[in-house]
Amino acid sequence: MPQKPEFSQQPYHRMIVLCGPSGTGKTTIAHHLLENIPELKFSVSATTRAPRGAEVDTRDYYFFAPDQFSQAISDELFIEYQEVYSGLLYGTLHSEVERMWTAGQIPLMDIDVKGAMNIKRIFGKAVLTIFVHPVNLENLERRLRARQTDSEESIQRRLSRAQEEMNMSREFDAIVYNDHLDKAMEKTLQITYSFLLKSEKLSSI
Ligand code: 5GP
Repeated sequence: MPQKPEFSQQPYHRMIVLCGPSGTGKTTIAHHLLENIPELKFSVSATTRAPRGAEVDTRDYYFFAPDQFSQAISDELFIEYQEVYSGLLYGTLHSEVERMWTAGQIPLMDIDVKGAMNIKRIFGKAVLTIFVHPVNLENLERRLRARQTDSEESIQRRLSRAQEEMNMSREFDAIVYNDHLDKAMEKTLQITYSFLLKSEKLSSI
C-alpha cells in the first residue's frame, strides 16, 4: 500500500483523466483513486443519452436534451465534447471544472480517448492522462460477457471501439495494464500521487 502524501489546498489547476475501453475496470480504478485522494472529485459530464438504471441527474451526468446540448455548444460552455456513440453527445463543462478548482479540488474525468487528447492539448502539463489497457481483446470480451449488461450488438460495438482506443494508447502520459485489478488500482494510485507531487512543486516555482 503506497504512503499517502499530503497535498496542499492551493487551487493550482490540475486534472486527472482516466480512459480505457468499457469493461477494463476503469470505474473500479476511478473509485479507488477517489477513496484514497480526498482532493480528487469526479467531474460530471453532460450528455444527450437517456439516464440508465439508477442514474441520477447532476450526480452521474447532466442529462441534456439534444437542443439544450446544441445551445451549450453555441454558447461555448464546453471545454471539449464528442459524439462518443452515433447520435450521442458527451461533453465536459467549463463550469464543472471551474467550480472544483475554485473549491481547491482536482477533477477526475472519465472521458473518451479523443476528449482526453483534446484536454491534453489545452491543459498540457497540468493534466495527467492515464489509459487503462485490457490484457487483450479476448480477455475484454470475456469480461463484457460476464457483466451480462450488454446486448450482442453492444458487445461488438464496444470491442471494435476498444481496438481503436488501444491504438491511441501511446499518446497517453501513462498506460496501466489491467492483468490483475488490485495491482492496476495500486499502480494507478502511485502514478497519480507522483503526478500530484511533481506538479505541486512545479506550481510553486
Ligand atoms: P456511458 O454512456 O457508458 O456512460 O459513457 C460512454 C462513454 O462516454 C465512456 O467511454 C465515457 O468515457 C465517455 N464520456 C463520458 N463523459 C464524457 C465527456 O464529457 N467527454 C467525452 N469526450 N467523453 C465522455
